[in-house]
Amino acid sequence: MGLLLKNCQWIVTQDPQRRVIPNGSVRIEDDRIANVGTPKESAKDDVIDCKRMALIPGLINTHTHLAMTLFRGYADDMELKDWLEKKIWPLEKKLTGEMCYQGALLASLEMISTGTTSLVDMYFHMERVADAVQEAGLRALLSYGIIDPTGGEKGDKERKTTLRLLQHIKSMKNPRIGFAVGPHAPYTCSEETLLWARELAKKEDSLVNIHVAETRREQAEFERDRKMRVGDYLDKIGFLSDRVLAAHSVWLTKNEVLLFSKRGVRVAHCPVSNMKLASGGAAPLPEMWEAGVPVGLGTDGPASNNSLDMFDTMKTCALLQKSQRWDPTVANAQKVLDMATIEGARCIGREKDLGSVEPGKRADLVLVRLDEPNMIPIHGKETLVSDLVYSARGSNVDTTIVDGRILMSNRKLVNLVPGRVQRGVEASIAELIPK
Ligand SMILES: [Zn+2]
Repeated sequence: MGLLLKNCQWIVTQDPQRRVIPNGSVRIEDDRIANVGTPKESAKDDVIDCKRMALIPGLINTHTHLAMTLFRGYADDMELKDWLEKKIWPLEKKLTGEMCYQGALLASLEMISTGTTSLVDMYFHMERVADAVQEAGLRALLSYGIIDPTGGEKGDKERKTTLRLLQHIKSMKNPRIGFAVGPHAPYTCSEETLLWARELAKKEDSLVNIHVAETRREQAEFERDRKMRVGDYLDKIGFLSDRVLAAHSVWLTKNEVLLFSKRGVRVAHCPVSNMKLASGGAAPLPEMWEAGVPVGLGTDGPASNNSLDMFDTMKTCALLQKSQRWDPTVANAQKVLDMATIEGARCIGREKDLGSVEPGKRADLVLVRLDEPNMIPIHGKETLVSDLVYSARGSNVDTTIVDGRILMSNRKLVNLVPGRVQRGVEASIAELIPK
């Protein structure tokens, strides 16, 4: 039995010969895309009428902290250091597994309803986050954020917590939920821990999810204390490889970009968070592209964004680069949509089976409504991708499908009950931040 997405007004593909297919259908069999274009309908198929909708690949959020939905709007317009030290870290000390579970359920709800199908997360109480993501039906790589600046006993504890998450994820036997090692950042982890992370990733064939060069201050302090830049340091200790997904990577020199390219490092670019926390400057995306570094898009956590809407992040990515470079042609709509789809897949090593609408790939798909005011008019297939990047919002998403399973249809959630999720979050907030 299959699922037929019938009569899509447009289908956005990666095929260079026919980037955008008009009036097409896509047939899904089990968890894979079976045909694209004009598939034959089987009498046993479930059918979704996709008239006045565009079918796009599911969006891939390569960097977030799901449970930070709990802190959304709690501390805005602050310096990063004060924000962390006075507001976020004291609350994070009080977090429980139940709170992170509720926060991650809310994040999943928001992601499904705005067209995200895959995500890379780093946070605490990750076993409970894994439970939430499983319940929601999303695809995820999950890492525990290791913070261990001095090594020793604290390092041992953090490593044990990581291994516990690894075992939990293995025991779930859910093909959509994978493990990543998550040393928080070079300035919050000892060299011993960074190298341990590298070895564990090799052994488990997993990704290393880490924040790199987010702020100018981080680079300045590295140069002051270690007499070298962050990228050079990570390479010197042998940490950089094609398993590393480096979030932010804003303050890199051209030399560090070339080093990333040489070692195969991938980057998760988080433009909204970088702008909101005034990280300064903008990640050198044109230099990364020129050097062949894969760059995906991330929202970062909801405390520093404050939304998990990847449409919002796509638009901001394009605007930030244009504004920074005084060049409206840089980071064009197709490039940015690719970052949120096929390049995101490349960042997590899954470009062969995720990130585009192609037969044989996993059926992670999203339908976007084109009959809403902000999506009218569509001038034709030449402008559709621009319309998706500059005009569309997450609220235009009608249907979200992961592995051929419908998670939202006609904006109705299948696995999650929004009211229940809201009540769970409100109970967590009442405990976390008593009035
Ligand atoms: Zn982050």
